[in-house]
Amino acid sequence: METVAAADLETKLQQLLEAVDRERAPLELTAYVVRGEPITFGDAARGDYRAFHVGDKWGPPWSTTWFRVRGDVPRDWAGKNVVAYFDLGFKGHPGFTCEALAWRDGRPWRGVDPRHRWLPIASPEIDFYLEASAIPTAVVSGPAEAPSMIALRESGDPTFEFRAAELRIQDAAARKLALDYRVLYELAMALTDEERRAQVLDALNRFARSNDPASLAKALAQPSTSSHVITAVGHAHIDTAWLWPLRETRRKCARTFSTALALMDEFPDYRFACSQPAQYAWMKESYPDIFEGIRRKVAAGQWEPVGSMWVEADCNLPSGEALVRQFLHGKRFFMQEFGVDTRELWLPDVFGYPASLPQLIAESGGEYFLTQKLSWNDTNKPAHHTFMWEGIDGTSIFTHFPPADTYNGDFSAGEIVHSAADFKDQDRSSRSLYLYGWGDGGGGPEPDMIESAHRLQNLDAAPHVELGRAAEFFARAKKEARNLTTWVGELYFELHRGTYTSQARTKKLNRRAEQALREAEVWSVALGDGYPADVLDSAWKRLLINQFHDILPGSSIDWVYEDAERELEAVVEIAGSVITSAQSALAGEGEKLTVFNVNSHPRREVIEVGERPIWVDAPACGWASIDESAAAQVEPVSISGRAMENGLLRVTWDAGGLLTSIWDKEAKREVLTSGTRGNLLQLHEDNPKNWDAWDVDADYRAHSADITALKSATVEMDGPLRAVVRFAREFGSSKLDQRIVLDAGSRVLRFETEVDWQEEHKFLKVAFPVAVHSPRATYEIQFGHVERSTHSNTSWDQARFEVCAHRWADLGEAGYGVALLNDCKYGYDILGSVMRLSLLRAPTHPDPAADRGKHRFTYALMPHPGDFREAGVIAAAEDLNTPLRMVRGQLTTGERRSLIEVDSPQVVVEAIKRAEDSAEVIVRLYEAWGGRCRARVRTSLPASRAYLCDLMERNRDEIPIHAGELEVELAPFKILTLKLTP
Ligand SMILES: [Zn+2]
Repeated sequence: METVAAADLETKLQQLLEAVDRERAPLELTAYVVRGEPITFGDAARGDYRAFHVGDKWGPPWSTTWFRVRGDVPRDWAGKNVVAYFDLGFKGHPGFTCEALAWRDGRPWRGVDPRHRWLPIASPEIDFYLEASAIPTAVVSGPAEAPSMIALRESGDPTFEFRAAELRIQDAAARKLALDYRVLYELAMALTDEERRAQVLDALNRFARSNDPASLAKALAQPSTSSHVITAVGHAHIDTAWLWPLRETRRKCARTFSTALALMDEFPDYRFACSQPAQYAWMKESYPDIFEGIRRKVAAGQWEPVGSMWVEADCNLPSGEALVRQFLHGKRFFMQEFGVDTRELWLPDVFGYPASLPQLIAESGGEYFLTQKLSWNDTNKPAHHTFMWEGIDGTSIFTHFPPADTYNGDFSAGEIVHSAADFKDQDRSSRSLYLYGWGDGGGGPEPDMIESAHRLQNLDAAPHVELGRAAEFFARAKKEARNLTTWVGELYFELHRGTYTSQARTKKLNRRAEQALREAEVWSVALGDGYPADVLDSAWKRLLINQFHDILPGSSIDWVYEDAERELEAVVEIAGSVITSAQSALAGEGEKLTVFNVNSHPRREVIEVGERPIWVDAPACGWASIDESAAAQVEPVSISGRAMENGLLRVTWDAGGLLTSIWDKEAKREVLTSGTRGNLLQLHEDNPKNWDAWDVDADYRAHSADITALKSATVEMDGPLRAVVRFAREFGSSKLDQRIVLDAGSRVLRFETEVDWQEEHKFLKVAFPVAVHSPRATYEIQFGHVERSTHSNTSWDQARFEVCAHRWADLGEAGYGVALLNDCKYGYDILGSVMRLSLLRAPTHPDPAADRGKHRFTYALMPHPGDFREAGVIAAAEDLNTPLRMVRGQLTTGERRSLIEVDSPQVVVEAIKRAEDSAEVIVRLYEAWGGRCRARVRTSLPASRAYLCDLMERNRDEIPIHAGELEVELAPFKILTLKLTP
């Protein structure tokens, strides 16, 4: 038989696709332009509409144009399948260019984007609106700096040319033929099996020559012989903010969700999985019709809420308690609105997963975990797609990485075939999940994708494909899987290592907001009456949304950080006023000094009242009246020449203000590596090849300059309780001012830093070469810590050249160690004996001026005899982050109260809050050392009964409590949630 060349087969496909739409009839447009913030449909309908023609320009960046679309279906088209077709001037993919929401009869109808260009027309008279968003293209890398979206939204000319608005007849038979042909064509191009490939090509050839659909039908009827089953779930990953601000995402959701709802009516077997309750809450608030539609489709089983977290949050940076609240608010929303208890954590696009997550998933009632992001690893590709993931406490969770390595599948036959072929656990499981639909900027599945699914359900040379729900996939896959391997420890993401540092102000505000909300809850519980539940609920949700995986990591446009900083400042302020009013009420009116300590260990330390340092003794998780004149029972601190010393440490610096020695008087040893200088600021060239704000490339170390020049040195305070020396430096276009502070009785040497940062593509680190040798260093993560290598023996060690930690990292050898603490930083590297903290970056994409400007932060060095656990490193890091608070009140001297006291230093109280659904009190504890222990917990809160519950605050077991005392047993890193009934 004569065969047709492959190129001709493709030409044939184009001809078939072009034959689908026949006839054209124009539509009439008028336009109403809205600059600034979006308006409601009601306001838009009253707008002043002007004449507009196809070919006209529209859309200054970030503006909205409402198009009124009118026309009549030609009489002789009656009975035909008519659509309205639009090209708004699309540039590129859905989600990254202009897009519109069609409104019909005053209600949201369907989204219009580059892959959803037509709307079905049912009546002869046409009159509807398009709410079109002029979303400019953001630039995420390149030699020239990215445009400022803040500047663009204020000015700018129309950028889109309206290319088409017309009625067309869509020929159903021609469409079916084109889709049949396309699936077989794509299959032939993807197949490696020569026999089947020849068979499919033969069918295409026959059709190309004869136009007889029978040859296609015969090839499509050949059933699959594969044992692999793909569950295909429609999806639209919508980044809650990224290259667009939150306000635009609210509209993106409306566009994507209304399209998904419409497709459910057309295709009864279509299933759509949708995460992020925060986005549903937007619909409930701003688009009640869409929300009602979702509610109906959830009840019908077509719309599947997935996820568990309030947003798809970054998981490296949020505190442990913040992650708990992501689950708490996320899962509660789905339960309250839809009665759905989600069992999976759904984070396809998040930049790494800490080893505390498995316990959080299990403790919130979940069983499964999904991502695909590690397929992007730059060094080591994950060895499995389906496996058990074990966390620091030993909990293991059934985990699946969809083998298509994307959450934006296109449902091409090739992607389906490769997805099954590339599945790495064939001998352990015969199921995988496939997520299809336009994502990131939204859009979701196209009708053609669902049509492809129908043709691929049972087709020879392809796996079995079912349109299904993620929950069904997980339940079946977990049940059927055998001999799964276990991955122990963190799922470190070998890419985007700059996201621990970029957008430092947002990260600092995040840390402050987490701490402030913790304190607001504790002191409100202490007060008892008038717990500000609604205020705290809304403040938490404002924090949680800003932990989204492109906001907190620092990978968004400038507009997003303008919003984030404003929102997080508001959270800190709201929590601050809750704290102030609770503490004032607790202390009463008077002039006596009262100290409040939120941490669960007692504290004896120096604080400044006014500008005067005093010595205070604060009870665990409570408050006490302070005698301001009491003498400190501690050796004083003093400065002489270029040295400061207290009873524990003697710190010496050189003429350039760099530390030349830290002598531990108690351990009688030198802390710094001999011949090196400590607190050395190092400035690296930082030019990642891709993903500017996201990445630090491994070769950044090659270009480094030490900042040694000193502008001035001043002694600011010279004991006896506090010694402060101040060093001012200038480098590049920047200025840095640092106070080095040592308190009497303290091992914590603080570096309070202010920087006016005016560099570009630079990475600022601070280095402490220390006389400690160990192949491993320890880093704090949420609810515990992990060890990582200090060498690069293997490719896995090598890839961890920049890692994430929370408030501390420690390098310890037998008998001695050094901890590097911080109050708002997350990036560390410890190579050999050099401990470094990442301070600032200066990327130019997608925010052209990221991080330029003023910064304030504190880091601290804590040399210590013994192991970091016994030495109190965890407590010291907590203290650095939560300074004692002082209030004037009427408590009598010596009066003190602890809300909770725990008799084991291994146990940390992470939260004390009012229960979500009752007046009971929740106390969250965790074992922080990584060892088993039994602890007595004593509370002064009213507690007649006590329960152990899960993170959702559902009771599990009652535990005996007598006179405010109860006993608990904890396994390593175990999180315990207690509920106390007054
Ligand atoms: Zn994303």
